[in-house]
Amino acid sequence: MVVDLRSDTVTQPSAAMRAAMQAAPLGDDVFGDDPSVNALQEKIAGMLGFEAALFVPTGTQSNLCAILSHCQRGDEYIVGQMAHCYRWEGGGAAVFGSVQPQPLNHQPDGTLAVAEIEAAIKPDDPHFAITRLLALENTLGGKLLPFGYVQQATQLAQAKGLSRHLDGARLFNAAVAQAALSVRAELVEAAAGTSTGSVRTEVTRDSAVAEARRIAQCFDSVSVCFSKGLGAPVGSALCGSREFIARARRVRKMAGGAMRQSGMLAAAASYALDHHIERLAQDHALARQLADGLAGIEGLHVEAPETNILFVDLSGAARDKSAALLKYLADHGIQATGLYRLRFVTHLDVDAAGVDRAVAAIRQFFHLKG
Ligand SMILES: *Cc1c(COP(=O)(O)O)cnc(C)c1O
Repeated sequence: MVVDLRSDTVTQPSAAMRAAMQAAPLGDDVFGDDPSVNALQEKIAGMLGFEAALFVPTGTQSNLCAILSHCQRGDEYIVGQMAHCYRWEGGGAAVFGSVQPQPLNHQPDGTLAVAEIEAAIKPDDPHFAITRLLALENTLGGKLLPFGYVQQATQLAQAKGLSRHLDGARLFNAAVAQAALSVRAELVEAAAGTSTGSVRTEVTRDSAVAEARRIAQCFDSVSVCFSKGLGAPVGSALCGSREFIARARRVRKMAGGAMRQSGMLAAAASYALDHHIERLAQDHALARQLADGLAGIEGLHVEAPETNILFVDLSGAARDKSAALLKYLADHGIQATGLYRLRFVTHLDVDAAGVDRAVAAIRQFFHLKG
């Protein structure tokens, strides 16, 4: 069995998810009468506290629908240099919408400095594009944006009259990590004897959904991927006000994303929302297990993973062996991406034994005992 750590997009639908897809009642979603699509849209909108949602084939299209619904031709959006909806979507907002990005560099923790956001908002002057939107991403490169920062940055945007979009492709990874932080804080309080109520010891579905909603409510629109850690085969949802989603529906049609009996796909996403949220904590634990296993290897700088993505930078002699390492891993049934900066992503279809195999293979490559 191959241990595929290239991405959390590689998961296969489980037998139970396939059964839910098979059993889904279907209609024609372009006529608005696919009950499974409608149910999914209501479910995700309700969970995140929005009036409406739109099921779309991909996260890329979801971000495109969002940007083109917030902005007009000649407007601009403030976004991070490494953000998916700037760097990794073929420049779609500019190509299809004539919306110009205003990218900013990230701070080491993945945030965009609030002062730099403020400085990038252009005055009302015919020389300038109209700054219309702030787009943030959480998690970004597997990093959880600190919640206090999310509040601060989105409050600034609101005060300056900008709309706020969250690319929450991995919003539920962020939510589970954020819920884990509050569990840890409660345990510390309990140990100090200052705790007031009963003490939780693990992240529950309810606590993760509450955190997802808390993050989402800082924004006017949120995009969530079902095809990443949630483990569905296809699809994303864009959430927002009823009026915003009506505009996004038009963009989705233009982009060719209005599907027909898409309830089969929506049913998989619904199943994922019911069954695959709190288990993301296991993916996060596996990423930490992998990081721990690689600690201390000379030339490897292992970043502490906050969620399900682990980056390992190679330097010195190890850097010279990067390509050979990747080939060695592939030959031993371990798949990862990157070259000098390796990326390992844990997910539903990886278990502790698989992570142990990855650790053992990497240690063997460097002639270290497993
Ligand atoms: C994966 C991803 C998307 C969209 O992905 P698709 O492959 O188009 O579904 C958008 N934003 C982020 C942060 C992502 O990781």
